[in-house]
Amino acid sequence: MRIITYTCPACGTVVAANELEAERVMKCPGLSCERVLRFANIPDEPREYFLENKGEYQI
Ligand SMILES: [Zn+2]
Repeated sequence: MRIITYTCPACGTVVAANELEAERVMKCPGLSCERVLRFANIPDEPREYFLENKGEYQI
């Protein structure tokens, strides 16, 4: 299983795709970073992989 993550383009904080998928839109968890991260910002290929294998990501 691949770990799908998204890196905040503003501060480099790495967010797990499953967190983003649950929230859809979330404020970057990075310290003093106001960037809003969206699940749709994850590039198509890893995002589709994540959606196809979503069951495996649920603990
Ligand atoms: Zn950030």
